[in-house]
Amino acid sequence: MFTSIQREVNQFINRGLDRTLRIAVTGLSQSGKTAFITSLINQLINIDNVTNGHLPLFEAARQQRIVGVKRIPQINLNIPRFDYEANLNSLMASPPQWPQSTRGVSETRLAVRYHNSGLFSHIKEKSTLYLDIFDYPGEWLLDLPLLNLNYQQWSLEQQNLRQGLRAELAQTWLEKTKKLDLTAMADEDILAQIAKDYTAYLQACKEQGLHFIQPGRFVLPAELEGAPVLQFFPLLHLAEKDWKKLKEEAKPNSYFAILNQRYDYYKNKVVKGFYENYFVHFDRQLILADCLTPINHSRQAFQDMQEGLQQLFKNFHYGKRRLINRLFYPRIDKLMFIATKADHITSDQIPNLVSLMRQLVQDGGRHVAFEGIETGFTAIAAIRATKQVLVEQEGKTFKALQGIRSKDKRQVTVYPGSVPSRLPSIDFWQQQKFDFDQFEPQPLESGEIIPHLRMDSVLQFLLGDKLA
Ligand code: GDP
Repeated sequence: MFTSIQREVNQFINRGLDRTLRIAVTGLSQSGKTAFITSLINQLINIDNVTNGHLPLFEAARQQRIVGVKRIPQINLNIPRFDYEANLNSLMASPPQWPQSTRGVSETRLAVRYHNSGLFSHIKEKSTLYLDIFDYPGEWLLDLPLLNLNYQQWSLEQQNLRQGLRAELAQTWLEKTKKLDLTAMADEDILAQIAKDYTAYLQACKEQGLHFIQPGRFVLPAELEGAPVLQFFPLLHLAEKDWKKLKEEAKPNSYFAILNQRYDYYKNKVVKGFYENYFVHFDRQLILADCLTPINHSRQAFQDMQEGLQQLFKNFHYGKRRLINRLFYPRIDKLMFIATKADHITSDQIPNLVSLMRQLVQDGGRHVAFEGIETGFTAIAAIRATKQVLVEQEGKTFKALQGIRSKDKRQVTVYPGSVPSRLPSIDFWQQQKFDFDQFEPQPLESGEIIPHLRMDSVLQFLLGDKLA
């Protein structure tokens, strides 16, 4: 009798202590998601209690309570697997290559076996924490505002964006749209062609370092590549009276009607579908941002990144009157903003980078609350491509970086300059001294742990409480 009660109690406790955590990793293109997840898996599966020491800020690893971490088959069979092996092989190639970047959603599952600490250690010695890690493009989150806009309102918003570089890049598709008789019967091929020009325009914006791109799926379509739902575009040349007239006069099979239909389908099926099927099910979210490349580029690139990130952050501003709250009920309890590629700067600049990230999130000091969510900020290098060295010049010692520069594959020693700790002012852009190169990853031998900077700060924030 006693044993059966005890068994039941034990089972109850086991179920209570073996937990699953659904972790989402996002960020705009090139923010470092693939590098980050590859390194995260690598750091975790290489925790070895005998030689461990590569994750000093991660308490459970430091206390040698992690018995082992394994990759196990994921539960959702319809989501592509995160290709850890291929990424690791790229890094181990000779010469080493950066892994292929995120193009759609992917998943991986890890089992973390650990010794309980504190109260639970008396009841149950070891537990397992299952981690489901999802990777998805931040561009998909830029579509959130669409849910609140009809086709006309969205077109109007896009009209307001058409300035400077964007206006230049938009010319080809805009000319074609203007020539289209919107009341005529729609020809699929013509629609596909103009949509292709529109997509090329969005891609060009992206290549020029502009980040605020809508609709997000057009530049990262994943399985929707070539589908008619991605073959529409905004109508920027229409005035209010033209919209009114078209709504009254356009026939159901006209270009105007089909464009409206496709916009609505995109909004209701693709955008809403992503939020319903994925977004609301995440427990914890990491948002990656590469703040350094835009600083290196130009003021417009930086402002555009800021705009893109602000749009992205809106997905996490839960409050009574927020759009996201009215539509979905996400349950995220922890959110971390991570400035990536910190191996591009010397270690003394890391606090500035963290502070800049914080400023970007809080919109230049205006406090933005992520209600009910514990929020963290950090700066990391998932795959450290440089080494910090001390250089002597005119009797003074400086910290500098050494690595293989991507553009000419030569080993260089550079001093990248200082990172602004606040949102850069006009003066900063006038006397901009910040300058850095892209680097190639360092050679990695089979069985070697990926060199990193501060990945353990993320692990502690993300898993610390769950492994207590
Ligand atoms: P994704 O588009 O968000 O998946 O971005 P990736 O992870 O593919 O990273 C894009 C590029 O940024 C890589 O190809 C590298 O050139 C660079 N990168 C990413 N992480 C790091 C890092 O930790 N250090 C350095 N030096 N470069 C990085």
